[in-house]
Amino acid sequence: MKKEKHEVHVIVPNDYPDFLTWMKGNNKVIVYNKEKNKSKNLILNSDLIFCLDFNSLERIFDLGDIINSSSSKKILIDHHPNPSKFYDYSLHSSKAAATCELIYDFINMMGNIENIDKPISECLYAGIMTDTGSFKFSSTSSKVHRIVADLIDRGVDINKIHRLIYDNNSLNKLKLLGFSISKRLNFLEEYNTAYFILNRNDLKRFKYKKGDTEGLVNYALSIKNVNLACIIIEEKDLIKFSFRSIGEFSVNNFAKKHFNGGGHKNAAGGRLDENLNVALSKFLKLIKANKKKLIY
Ligand code: 5GP
Repeated sequence: MKKEKHEVHVIVPNDYPDFLTWMKGNNKVIVYNKEKNKSKNLILNSDLIFCLDFNSLERIFDLGDIINSSSSKKILIDHHPNPSKFYDYSLHSSKAAATCELIYDFINMMGNIENIDKPISECLYAGIMTDTGSFKFSSTSSKVHRIVADLIDRGVDINKIHRLIYDNNSLNKLKLLGFSISKRLNFLEEYNTAYFILNRNDLKRFKYKKGDTEGLVNYALSIKNVNLACIIIEEKDLIKFSFRSIGEFSVNNFAKKHFNGGGHKNAAGGRLDENLNVALSKFLKLIKANKKKLIY
């Protein structure tokens, strides 16, 4: 957009993990939680608002209310299923592997493919790599590989980007991973389900920072015969759930119906405004109730 001489500001609802701060333009990103007035002024005085990678304004809390009250035209670019109709225009496909795949398509459709330089390619590559689980999810179509091939031709050093994202761990993050696997992982063999449960003291003990539990749920999913994996985290003022499934069990429906959440069929999240014990009991009760759907 900048190359086409538009004035552009990027606003995110809350802070993001350190392993993304290498991206060009990172120092210009406005974090709504930290700069509420500035964000509000920019939104209310904008001509166009691009809403990226979320399917309902509720997903971004207060920031969603501000966007809703703005009279600017809104364009949704997203791949989460069943978006609510808060936008004027959309480039949406739940078949797309990542919102970055659609952003690539968007730039291409605007006739600006040559604007995709090396730093832009690196960001798009990172978005596609992370959302496809490093090109292993079934959403990784041949089209995704063709886009990635083009991004590599535009200068992406794939090994560098992989290392910046996945080999950038703090020692505390690794210790939390080890602790979680040895002390906080539960396997409900007869329900094909495994889950982690982390309380506030666990997070404090390992000096938890945003992003430190990213990817953890996949260790539960990697247990033989597990079809549903979950992490339950006691955050500051709510209980956060992260769900993953293999095959037919839709964690999107499960999270939507019972945990005020949503996401994709095989990757979703949610939250409960309860204490940790109540949240865990609810989860366990639901697992038992869904036994037939979990065994395949
Ligand atoms: P994660 O478990 O990695 O945080 O999220 C997995 C997927 O679920 C992502 O597509 C994310 O957007 C979605 N998701 C996570 N938490 C929530 C939530 O609280 N509500 C909704 N609607 N989606 C969520």
